[in-house]
Amino acid sequence: MTHYIGRFAPSPTGPLHKGSLVAAMASYLDAKAQQGKWLVRIEDIDEARTVPGSAESILETLSALGMQWDGEVVWQSRRKPLYEAAFERLGSHAYACGCTRREIADSRLGVASDGAAVYPGTCRHGLAEGKAARAYRLRVPDAGTDCIAFADRWMGSISQHLATEVGDFVLKRADGFWAYQLAVVVDDGEQGVTHVVRGADLLESTARQIYLQGLLGLPSPRYLHVPMVTNEAGEKLSKQTGAHALDLSQPLEELQATAAFLGLAIKETRSVEDFWVRAAYAWRQRFPA
Ligand code: GLU
Repeated sequence: MTHYIGRFAPSPTGPLHKGSLVAAMASYLDAKAQQGKWLVRIEDIDEARTVPGSAESILETLSALGMQWDGEVVWQSRRKPLYEAAFERLGSHAYACGCTRREIADSRLGVASDGAAVYPGTCRHGLAEGKAARAYRLRVPDAGTDCIAFADRWMGSISQHLATEVGDFVLKRADGFWAYQLAVVVDDGEQGVTHVVRGADLLESTARQIYLQGLLGLPSPRYLHVPMVTNEAGEKLSKQTGAHALDLSQPLEELQATAAFLGLAIKETRSVEDFWVRAAYAWRQRFPA
Protein backbone atom coordinates (compact mmCIF):
# COMPACT_ATOMS: atom_id res chain seq x y z
CA MET A 1 0.00 0.00 0.00
CA THR A 2 1.33 3.47 -0.83
CA HIS A 3 2.03 5.76 2.06
CA TYR A 4 -0.23 8.68 1.28
CA ILE A 5 -1.46 11.48 3.54
CA GLY A 6 -3.38 14.29 1.88
CA ARG A 7 -5.34 17.18 3.28
CA PHE A 8 -7.91 19.87 2.61
CA ALA A 9 -7.08 23.07 4.47
CA PRO A 10 -9.85 25.67 4.11
CA SER A 11 -9.68 29.14 5.64
CA PRO A 12 -12.99 29.69 7.44
CA THR A 13 -13.85 32.96 5.75
CA GLY A 14 -17.25 31.84 4.48
CA PRO A 15 -19.17 28.69 3.49
CA LEU A 16 -17.77 26.13 1.03
CA HIS A 17 -18.65 27.42 -2.46
CA LYS A 18 -18.28 26.15 -6.00
CA GLY A 19 -14.65 27.31 -6.14
CA SER A 20 -13.49 25.80 -2.86
CA LEU A 21 -15.33 22.55 -3.62
CA VAL A 22 -12.93 22.05 -6.55
CA ALA A 23 -9.91 21.97 -4.19
CA ALA A 24 -11.80 19.82 -1.68
CA MET A 25 -12.83 17.33 -4.35
CA ALA A 26 -9.43 17.12 -6.03
CA SER A 27 -7.63 16.51 -2.73
CA TYR A 28 -10.24 13.96 -1.66
CA LEU A 29 -10.12 12.07 -4.97
CA ASP A 30 -6.33 11.99 -5.02
CA ALA A 31 -6.31 10.49 -1.51
CA LYS A 32 -9.06 7.96 -2.34
CA ALA A 33 -7.40 7.02 -5.65
CA GLN A 34 -4.23 6.11 -3.74
CA GLN A 35 -6.03 4.52 -0.77
CA GLY A 36 -4.54 7.21 1.39
CA LYS A 37 -5.69 9.27 4.32
CA TRP A 38 -7.49 12.58 3.83
CA LEU A 39 -7.15 15.09 6.66
CA VAL A 40 -9.08 18.30 7.17
CA ARG A 41 -7.34 21.27 8.75
CA ILE A 42 -9.16 24.51 9.49
CA GLU A 43 -6.76 27.36 8.72
CA ASP A 44 -8.12 29.88 11.18
CA ILE A 45 -4.73 31.39 12.04
CA ASP A 46 -5.73 34.75 10.54
CA GLU A 47 -8.27 35.52 13.22
CA ALA A 48 -9.08 38.88 11.67
CA ARG A 49 -10.49 37.11 8.58
CA THR A 50 -12.24 34.24 10.34
CA VAL A 51 -16.01 34.37 10.01
CA PRO A 52 -17.68 32.75 13.05
CA GLY A 53 -19.64 29.62 12.14
CA SER A 54 -18.07 29.14 8.73
CA ALA A 55 -15.70 26.34 9.79
CA GLU A 56 -18.68 24.37 11.11
CA SER A 57 -20.61 25.11 7.94
CA ILE A 58 -17.71 23.89 5.75
CA LEU A 59 -17.47 20.65 7.75
CA GLU A 60 -21.23 20.06 7.50
CA THR A 61 -21.12 20.62 3.75
CA LEU A 62 -18.24 18.16 3.31
CA SER A 63 -20.23 15.57 5.27
CA ALA A 64 -23.41 16.28 3.30
CA LEU A 65 -21.47 15.65 0.09
CA GLY A 66 -20.19 12.32 1.40
CA MET A 67 -16.60 13.46 2.00
CA GLN A 68 -15.47 11.79 5.19
CA TRP A 69 -12.15 12.88 6.66
CA ASP A 70 -9.75 10.71 8.62
CA GLY A 71 -8.98 11.46 12.26
CA GLU A 72 -9.77 14.63 14.15
CA VAL A 73 -10.12 17.99 12.43
CA VAL A 74 -7.11 20.18 13.25
CA TRP A 75 -7.55 23.91 14.03
CA GLN A 76 -4.58 26.19 13.44
CA SER A 77 -5.71 28.65 16.10
CA ARG A 78 -5.03 25.92 18.70
CA ARG A 79 -1.52 25.14 17.50
CA LYS A 80 0.32 28.41 18.11
CA PRO A 81 3.05 26.80 20.30
CA LEU A 82 4.09 24.66 17.29
CA TYR A 83 4.54 27.78 15.13
CA GLU A 84 6.44 29.54 17.89
CA ALA A 85 8.79 26.54 18.27
CA ALA A 86 9.46 26.40 14.52
CA PHE A 87 10.11 30.14 14.47
CA GLU A 88 12.66 29.70 17.29
CA ARG A 89 14.36 26.93 15.32
CA LEU A 90 14.83 29.27 12.37
CA GLY A 91 17.18 31.37 14.52
CA SER A 92 19.07 33.99 12.53
CA HIS A 93 17.28 33.05 9.30
CA ALA A 94 14.51 35.26 10.72
CA TYR A 95 14.85 38.94 11.48
CA ALA A 96 12.75 41.80 12.79
CA CYS A 97 11.42 44.31 10.28
CA GLY A 98 10.15 47.80 11.04
CA CYS A 99 8.96 48.76 7.56
CA THR A 100 5.39 49.76 6.88
CA ARG A 101 3.49 48.53 3.83
CA ARG A 102 3.75 52.01 2.32
CA GLU A 103 7.53 52.15 2.74
CA ILE A 104 7.88 48.79 0.99
CA ALA A 105 5.55 49.81 -1.85
CA ASP A 106 7.47 53.08 -2.25
CA SER A 107 10.75 51.21 -2.70
CA ARG A 108 9.38 50.06 -6.10
CA LEU A 109 11.59 47.02 -6.27
CA GLY A 110 8.84 45.22 -8.12
CA VAL A 111 5.62 43.46 -7.44
CA ALA A 112 5.53 39.73 -6.76
CA SER A 113 3.07 37.79 -8.89
CA ASP A 114 0.71 37.49 -5.90
CA GLY A 115 0.40 41.27 -5.85
CA ALA A 116 2.62 41.99 -2.84
CA ALA A 117 5.59 44.31 -3.28
CA VAL A 118 8.99 42.55 -3.32
CA TYR A 119 10.65 43.36 -0.01
CA PRO A 120 13.78 45.48 -0.63
CA GLY A 121 15.68 44.04 2.36
CA THR A 122 15.78 47.32 4.29
CA CYS A 123 15.92 45.67 7.75
CA ARG A 124 18.07 42.66 6.77
CA HIS A 125 21.08 43.93 8.67
CA GLY A 126 19.21 45.40 11.60
CA LEU A 127 16.39 47.80 12.25
CA ALA A 128 16.98 51.34 11.06
CA GLU A 129 17.46 53.86 13.85
CA GLY A 130 14.26 54.87 15.55
CA LYS A 131 12.32 51.91 14.07
CA ALA A 132 10.50 49.37 16.22
CA ALA A 133 10.01 45.73 15.19
CA ARG A 134 6.65 45.26 13.48
CA ALA A 135 6.89 41.94 11.65
CA TYR A 136 9.44 39.12 11.40
CA ARG A 137 10.74 38.05 8.01
CA LEU A 138 12.67 35.12 6.62
CA ARG A 139 15.97 35.85 4.91
CA VAL A 140 15.81 34.23 1.44
CA PRO A 141 18.97 33.16 -0.45
CA ASP A 142 20.86 35.97 -2.20
CA ALA A 143 20.14 37.10 -5.73
CA GLY A 144 23.01 35.06 -7.18
CA THR A 145 21.51 31.73 -6.07
CA ASP A 146 19.42 29.24 -8.06
CA CYS A 147 15.66 29.19 -8.49
CA ILE A 148 13.55 26.82 -6.43
CA ALA A 149 12.07 24.33 -8.89
CA PHE A 150 9.50 21.59 -8.52
CA ALA A 151 7.36 19.37 -10.74
CA ASP A 152 3.69 20.12 -10.21
CA ARG A 153 1.54 17.09 -11.04
CA TRP A 154 -1.00 19.25 -12.93
CA MET A 155 0.90 22.37 -13.95
CA GLY A 156 4.25 20.81 -14.91
CA SER A 157 7.66 22.33 -14.10
CA ILE A 158 7.51 25.46 -12.01
CA SER A 159 10.37 27.56 -10.77
CA GLN A 160 10.65 30.73 -8.80
CA HIS A 161 13.57 32.91 -7.79
CA LEU A 162 12.80 33.95 -4.24
CA ALA A 163 15.23 36.87 -4.01
CA THR A 164 13.93 38.70 -7.08
CA GLU A 165 10.33 37.49 -7.28
CA VAL A 166 9.33 37.47 -3.61
CA GLY A 167 12.02 38.89 -1.34
CA ASP A 168 12.36 38.16 2.38
CA PHE A 169 8.85 37.14 3.35
CA VAL A 170 6.82 37.51 6.52
CA LEU A 171 6.75 34.77 9.16
CA LYS A 172 5.05 36.73 11.91
CA ARG A 173 2.80 39.60 10.95
CA ALA A 174 2.69 43.12 12.31
CA ASP A 175 -0.68 42.30 13.93
CA GLY A 176 0.99 39.48 15.88
CA PHE A 177 -0.52 36.56 13.94
CA TRP A 178 1.67 33.83 12.45
CA ALA A 179 1.84 34.04 8.68
CA TYR A 180 0.15 31.43 6.51
CA GLN A 181 3.51 30.37 4.98
CA LEU A 182 4.96 29.34 8.33
CA ALA A 183 1.80 27.72 9.71
CA VAL A 184 1.14 25.64 6.58
CA VAL A 185 4.71 24.30 6.45
CA VAL A 186 4.74 23.43 10.15
CA ASP A 187 1.34 21.70 9.91
CA ASP A 188 2.00 19.77 6.71
CA GLY A 189 5.28 18.58 8.29
CA GLU A 190 3.80 17.75 11.68
CA GLN A 191 0.81 15.93 10.14
CA GLY A 192 3.09 13.92 7.83
CA VAL A 193 1.38 15.20 4.67
CA THR A 194 2.90 13.52 1.60
CA HIS A 195 0.67 15.06 -1.11
CA VAL A 196 -0.69 18.60 -1.28
CA VAL A 197 -3.57 19.15 -3.71
CA ARG A 198 -4.98 22.69 -3.73
CA GLY A 199 -5.97 25.66 -5.89
CA ALA A 200 -3.56 27.27 -8.35
CA ASP A 201 -3.75 30.56 -6.45
CA LEU A 202 -1.23 28.94 -4.10
CA LEU A 203 1.25 27.96 -6.83
CA GLU A 204 3.01 31.25 -6.06
CA SER A 205 3.51 30.23 -2.44
CA THR A 206 4.97 26.79 -3.05
CA ALA A 207 8.61 27.81 -3.58
CA ARG A 208 8.55 29.70 -0.27
CA GLN A 209 7.12 26.65 1.43
CA ILE A 210 9.73 24.32 -0.09
CA TYR A 211 12.49 26.66 1.07
CA LEU A 212 11.08 26.76 4.61
CA GLN A 213 10.71 22.96 4.67
CA GLY A 214 14.42 22.68 3.90
CA LEU A 215 15.39 25.05 6.70
CA LEU A 216 13.20 23.18 9.19
CA GLY A 217 14.48 19.76 8.08
CA LEU A 218 11.03 18.70 6.84
CA PRO A 219 10.46 16.56 3.72
CA SER A 220 8.71 18.31 0.82
CA PRO A 221 5.36 16.81 -0.19
CA ARG A 222 4.40 16.33 -3.85
CA TYR A 223 2.24 19.14 -5.19
CA LEU A 224 -0.75 19.30 -7.51
CA HIS A 225 -2.42 22.65 -8.16
CA VAL A 226 -5.84 22.62 -9.78
CA PRO A 227 -7.02 25.50 -11.99
CA MET A 228 -9.14 28.15 -10.31
CA VAL A 229 -12.82 28.56 -11.02
CA THR A 230 -13.41 32.11 -12.20
CA ASN A 231 -16.52 34.23 -12.75
CA GLU A 232 -17.47 35.82 -16.09
CA ALA A 233 -14.99 38.64 -15.43
CA GLY A 234 -12.17 36.10 -15.04
CA GLU A 235 -11.84 36.73 -11.31
CA LYS A 236 -11.25 33.96 -8.80
CA LEU A 237 -14.52 32.90 -7.14
CA SER A 238 -14.71 34.14 -3.59
CA LYS A 239 -17.25 35.89 -1.43
CA GLN A 240 -16.06 39.26 -2.75
CA THR A 241 -16.53 38.26 -6.39
CA GLY A 242 -19.95 36.72 -5.86
CA ALA A 243 -18.99 33.09 -5.21
CA HIS A 244 -21.94 30.86 -5.83
CA ALA A 245 -23.30 28.93 -2.92
CA LEU A 246 -23.72 25.20 -3.33
CA ASP A 247 -27.18 23.76 -3.70
CA LEU A 248 -27.16 20.93 -1.18
CA SER A 249 -30.64 19.81 -2.16
CA GLN A 250 -29.01 18.57 -5.41
CA PRO A 251 -25.72 17.05 -4.16
CA LEU A 252 -25.18 14.82 -7.20
CA GLU A 253 -25.57 17.71 -9.63
CA GLU A 254 -23.06 19.79 -7.68
CA LEU A 255 -20.59 16.90 -7.54
CA GLN A 256 -20.95 16.11 -11.24
CA ALA A 257 -20.47 19.75 -12.25
CA THR A 258 -17.33 20.03 -10.10
CA ALA A 259 -15.97 16.76 -11.48
CA ALA A 260 -16.59 18.05 -15.02
CA PHE A 261 -14.56 21.15 -14.20
CA LEU A 262 -11.72 18.80 -13.17
CA GLY A 263 -12.03 17.02 -16.51
CA LEU A 264 -13.85 13.94 -15.20
CA ALA A 265 -17.08 12.93 -16.91
CA ILE A 266 -19.05 11.13 -14.20
CA LYS A 267 -22.59 10.73 -15.48
CA GLU A 268 -25.59 8.61 -14.61
CA THR A 269 -24.54 8.01 -11.05
CA ARG A 270 -27.05 6.31 -8.79
CA SER A 271 -25.97 7.85 -5.49
CA VAL A 272 -23.35 10.03 -3.83
CA GLU A 273 -21.42 6.87 -2.80
CA ASP A 274 -21.51 5.59 -6.36
CA PHE A 275 -20.28 8.99 -7.59
CA TRP A 276 -17.20 8.86 -5.35
CA VAL A 277 -16.25 5.32 -6.38
CA ARG A 278 -16.46 6.22 -10.07
CA ALA A 279 -14.79 9.58 -9.68
CA ALA A 280 -11.85 8.09 -7.74
CA TYR A 281 -11.44 5.52 -10.51
CA ALA A 282 -11.49 8.22 -13.20
CA TRP A 283 -9.02 10.36 -11.24
CA ARG A 284 -6.64 7.40 -10.91
CA GLN A 285 -6.58 7.01 -14.70
CA ARG A 286 -5.54 10.63 -15.01
CA PHE A 287 -3.12 10.87 -12.12
CA PRO A 288 -1.66 7.42 -11.52
CA ALA A 289 0.26 6.96 -8.27
N1 GLU B 1 -6.13 27.94 3.70
C1 GLU B 1 -5.82 28.12 2.31
C2 GLU B 1 -7.05 28.57 1.56
O1 GLU B 1 -8.17 28.33 1.99
C3 GLU B 1 -5.33 26.84 1.67
C4 GLU B 1 -3.97 26.51 2.12
C5 GLU B 1 -3.33 25.30 1.46
O2 GLU B 1 -4.03 24.44 0.91
O3 GLU B 1 -2.11 25.24 1.53
O4 GLU B 1 -6.92 29.20 0.53
